[in-house]
This record gives sequence, structure tokens and C-alpha cells, in this order.
Amino acid sequence: MNDRAWIEEFIEKNQDQFVKANDDIWSYAELAFKEEKSAARLESMLKDWGFEVETGVAGIPTCFTGTYRQGSGKPVMGILGEYDALAGLSQEAGVTEKREREPGGAGHGCGHCALGTGSLAAAVAVKEYLRETGKNGTVIYFGCPAEEGAGSKQFMARAGAFDGVDFVYTWHPATVNQVEAVHSNAIMGANFRFKGVSSHAGSTPFLGRSALDACELMGVGCNYLREHVIPEARIHYAYIDTGGTAPNVVQDHACVRYEVRAPYVYQVKELFERVKEVARGAAIMTGTTMECELAMAFTEYLPNNALASVADACMREIGAPKWSEEDYRLAKAYLDTYNEETKARIRRSAEELYGERAEEVLARPLDSEVHPFDPAKIRLQAGSTDVGDVGYAVPTLNLQVATACVGNVGHTWQMTAQSCSPLAHKGLLTAAKAIALSCVRTMEQPEVMEKAKAEVARRNGGKYECPLPDSVQPPLDTY
Ligand SMILES: [Zn+2]
Repeated sequence: MNDRAWIEEFIEKNQDQFVKANDDIWSYAELAFKEEKSAARLESMLKDWGFEVETGVAGIPTCFTGTYRQGSGKPVMGILGEYDALAGLSQEAGVTEKREREPGGAGHGCGHCALGTGSLAAAVAVKEYLRETGKNGTVIYFGCPAEEGAGSKQFMARAGAFDGVDFVYTWHPATVNQVEAVHSNAIMGANFRFKGVSSHAGSTPFLGRSALDACELMGVGCNYLREHVIPEARIHYAYIDTGGTAPNVVQDHACVRYEVRAPYVYQVKELFERVKEVARGAAIMTGTTMECELAMAFTEYLPNNALASVADACMREIGAPKWSEEDYRLAKAYLDTYNEETKARIRRSAEELYGERAEEVLARPLDSEVHPFDPAKIRLQAGSTDVGDVGYAVPTLNLQVATACVGNVGHTWQMTAQSCSPLAHKGLLTAAKAIALSCVRTMEQPEVMEKAKAEVARRNGGKYECPLPDSVQPPLDTY
């Protein structure tokens, strides 16, 4: 039996337990750094399959690794899993209307339940394949919390979790099947905390120094800054603390969170310094003090082209998930829940991807093919991910597998609902097959691994440098 047939059969034989794990983690719907039940569920499965589990990686309680080593232990293959949910996206499974499971609760609106279990299924398949064939190698499942929060992979990379790993594969639930051809932005985020002096705003305002004014002036300064930064840059903010609700008290404390993005980490660092200067200026203008708590930063993600050539072939060999007529009907019902404006946008991107077949695809809106990877078509996407830091440390590649209807919008109730339905189940099993096959094919090709490493060395100059200094600890409760 060839490697593909073996992996497909293994995943299919064991599919019930992987699907069940997805549905359990979906129902836990735990937020960033609080994924205790989800992590425990995945850890116990790994132990049952004979992996050695290490918890509390990089000082994060819900961060873990599961390792299986055979023979010489070389090469070392990594597979990333995520399992955190999003606030406010609680939703009943599989229904095609907005219906909260738990009022105001969290939900898996990015499909990380499927991401975590699909990747785990891949790791188990690779381990069993090694055992079956007696080949040398190590497979490590990296349990990565808080992707939707401050991230964890940059802290893991800084702590050396990926040292000695030859290559890493991961995937993300999507609406298409392909090697992701995206360059995502680097990002830095910090809380700017201003301290002033409180006073009666009516009788003695001259004795007060307003921290809230400082936040507002920082906003004004950043808005003027926008004209003088590269066009791809993004500067966004949210008030964390407005200093209270009483207008007649001068606010002696206030805090605003800023996140800045740009295509490359060096650009983000430069831009962040300029935003910090604006904050200093705001403090000077208002007679307050300012403290900048740098809390998160991700390096840009770029696909590793050497790994992409292997995974692209594997994905095409495995093919798209095998959708049933019932799946197509369900997907159409989800697509129909979007308003006209969103539908028009979905139609335009479907035309881009499917050309004249767009109408036909939108009538049965599940991606039923694998789109070939073309390095010339890598496009910049404004979002950011901590997978970027893994790719900046070791060769890394992200696949996309459909778990939702064509055009589905991420971080929505629709995504939560579909993430516990046959669409996500079939998607995660397909992703598991594609990742497992990519691992076993890559490990047989030392020249691909060399090329993949050379690509990383060209980008990072031979050594991973974390965008966060050692003094910045994982912000388990503050971000
Ligand atoms: Zn996500």
C-alpha cells in the first residue's frame, strides 16, 4: 500500500474520535489563555496514542507539546494546533439562523476546534506511519493557545520550542482548498497607560492633570501620523480604561491599546517607535506620565516555497473533501443568510477564483477542487498571525481546507455554526490527510528540507529574533 492510501485509511478508520474531539472543543469554546479543557482533551488523546506530553511550554499553562520519537529521531517534524474561541460568538451547532447557545458566550467563529483536532489527527497518523514502516523520525504536535489574543507561538519560538525542528506544517479552516498564498502583516500591540492627578473638574480643575486628555491627544497625534507612514501600515486602537464615568472628576488614570501593522517586522518596529513618541508627546502636553506595556507582536507570515511545492502536490493527490448533496444544501443555506452587500462581495471574489463557473459554484457553494499554488501570486493580506514567528524560526507552511460555504465570512455566527457540522468534520479529516502526507513526503526529501531551511536563513539572517524582548512575558491576564 502506498503512503497516501495508508494515511487515508488510517484517518478514516479513526475518524469518529477526531470528529468527537472537534465537537467537544467546539462546545467548550474557551477564550485565549483559558483553554484548559480544550488543551487537556488534546493532551489526553496524545497520551493515549503514545506521545510524550509536556505542558506549560513557554510559561503558558495551556501551551503544550506532544512528542513521538523513533530510531535516530531525525528528521524532526512539527504540526501546529490551535483551540481558542472568540468572545460574543456563541451559536448553536449546525442551524442556519443566529441562535445563541449561551447568551453573550464565546464561540468557535474561527474554527480553531477543527484546526486543533485536524492537526492532532495528522500528528497521530504520522506517528503510526513511522511505527508501521519502522522509519526514523520525530513528530511533535505543538498545542498553541491564544491565537486570537496575544498569541503564543512567538513566546514558544523565543523559548526555543522549535529549535531542532526541520519543518512545520499547519492549516486553517477556510472556504477553499489550497496552500495558502498569503503574506500576512507583522503586528505589535501595547497598552499605553497614562497617570495624572484627579481633582474637582468644576472648582479646582487647575490642580488636575487628565490622563483621559492624554489618551485623546495620543489619538489626535496618531491620526496626523497616518499621512506619513507607508500606505500598507495600519494603526488601530481601543480604550481599555477611560478613567471612570464621572465628568466632574479629572481622570487620573486612563489606558488605550494600540496595534500597528505593516508587511515586515522591521517596518512595524519603526512605526511602533513613532507611535510611542506620539504617546510621550501626549504625556508632556497634559503633564501626565506614560507607561508603554508592550504585550504582543507577530512577525509576518510568508509561505515557505520549498515546502509549498511538496504540500501542493499532496493536497492535489488527496483532493477536496467529498461533499454530499446534503452538505451542498447546508452550505447554500448558510450562504443565503448573508445580506445583499456581503453576497455581492462574495460573488465578486467567486468570479475571481472560479471565472465563468462562479454562478454554478455559488448554487452549490462548497469548494470541490484544490487550487494550485503559485508563488508568483502570493498577495499581501492585512491580517496577522503568530504562525509568522514559527516561519521566521523554521520552515513553515500553512494549508487551507474548506470547512464552510464558499465566501463564508470568518469571525461570525455562521462560522461558529458550521464549525460543528459535517462541513467542518469533512474539512478537518481532509486537512489531517494532507498534512500527514506532506510530512511523510517531505521527510523523504533531504534536498527539500535544505532548500526550505535556506529560505528561512535568507529571511532571518540565520537566527530567529523575537519581536518581543525577553522582559515581555506572555500577557496571560492583561491582553
Ligand atoms: Zn483563526
